[in-house]
Amino acid sequence: MPVAASSTKWVDELFSSSIVPTLVDYIKIPNKSAMFDPEWRKNGHMDKAVELLAGWAKQRLPDGATLEVVRLGERTPVIFIDVPGTGGKAGDTVMLYGHLDKQPEMTGWRDGLGPWIPVIEGDKLYGRGGADDGYSIFSSLTAINVLRKDKIPHARCVVLIEACEESGSYDLPAYIDHLAPRIGELSLVVCLDSGCANYDQLWSTTSLRGLVLGNLEVSLLHEGVHSGDGTGVIAASERVIRMLLDRLEDSHTGQIKLAALATQIPKQRVLQAERTAQVIGNEVWNKFPLQPGVKAVADNNVELILNRTWRPGLAITGAEGWPTIQNAGNVLRPSTKLKLSIRIPPRVDPKAAAAAVKQALEKDPPYGAKVTFESSGANAGWDAPEMAPWLDKALDEASQRHFGKPAMYMGEGGTIPFMYMLGEKFPKAQFCITGVLGPSSNAHGPNEFLHIPTAKKLTLCVADVLATHAQQP
Ligand SMILES: [Zn+2]
Repeated sequence: MPVAASSTKWVDELFSSSIVPTLVDYIKIPNKSAMFDPEWRKNGHMDKAVELLAGWAKQRLPDGATLEVVRLGERTPVIFIDVPGTGGKAGDTVMLYGHLDKQPEMTGWRDGLGPWIPVIEGDKLYGRGGADDGYSIFSSLTAINVLRKDKIPHARCVVLIEACEESGSYDLPAYIDHLAPRIGELSLVVCLDSGCANYDQLWSTTSLRGLVLGNLEVSLLHEGVHSGDGTGVIAASERVIRMLLDRLEDSHTGQIKLAALATQIPKQRVLQAERTAQVIGNEVWNKFPLQPGVKAVADNNVELILNRTWRPGLAITGAEGWPTIQNAGNVLRPSTKLKLSIRIPPRVDPKAAAAAVKQALEKDPPYGAKVTFESSGANAGWDAPEMAPWLDKALDEASQRHFGKPAMYMGEGGTIPFMYMLGEKFPKAQFCITGVLGPSSNAHGPNEFLHIPTAKKLTLCVADVLATHAQQP
């Protein structure tokens, strides 16, 4: 039984009166993930965000539910909500997952906007972390509350909101071990931290890429020297780093050259990419904030979708050893350090990938330069298990009901480390991974926004999926 027609209005009003105002307060808190705020304990922003979200949730707990902020030693906290079932099989549990830590500021916010400045413009709530992934606790709990209100049975649910996702979820395995007896056996995981290719229908994520992070440092001198003296005699560290990066990536195509970072793309996923390309067309590439005249790396939209979901890719996300332009004298700088962020396809072993990158970069250094690659984290991607027919049908019906269009399936290019961990731990669980990170919503970049109507519809879709789940024999 789907949620009552009147629930659309109920959810609508709850967003206006309570959820969006609380998200506005949440955006103001600079609770950057631990990797970007090593002093997070002292700074207290994370605790403030936990207090705000847990405070909201406590006031809206379904009958019989409990909420605990779990803290293991010095680790980032976890909000754990346990909601008893009103139906479903005995011993069966659904996990709803999201996170509350945020990416750092990033530059380029347009005038009037900023990471910690909430601004509502039409359907959009701008600011860091609203869409990635602050809304998740609100949507998860509201979906359950809609079912309670409509007296529609649901299985036992646990809502788990972590505070370490943007740092690679390194604290999470300890919590999962600690909470295992309270989590129980999962038959369904609902994850609200993913993307959608448009705001017109329900998008379900069928795969995620993994991530290898690391710092590459090249040094040839103890200190900088006059560039008029040094150039032509000693190689510039930036040129040596270019040579090394050429070992990783074909700079003409962006293709990653290391076999350890590639995988065979399953036929089913190629078919899904073809279908997605038919629905979204050039949105694959023109959703990005392109400069006039800029083209994608390939003409074929299916190839672009496969590139961003099933092939590795390199981005350089930070640099050290460079003065600002204002302060740059004519100096041959002694060293260059870059932060490499390498997306890896699902099914690729992240540790083996990191080791392959290190070996490729460090072997036979040009000019005998001092070269080090220190990996600072490696996470596996994820490939969905085969979807049960009931879930396939439930997603489609929910999408038809709340969006007026069929559900769609696609891979995502980002990483949610927890999905791999859960997949390993609960091999029989079904996964409903979805989210509001659609065109231009720009999580991690400037001008991030939450598309409020999509968050509302998604909430109703989750309620419907939970209702259908509870009816499974
Ligand atoms: Zn996220």
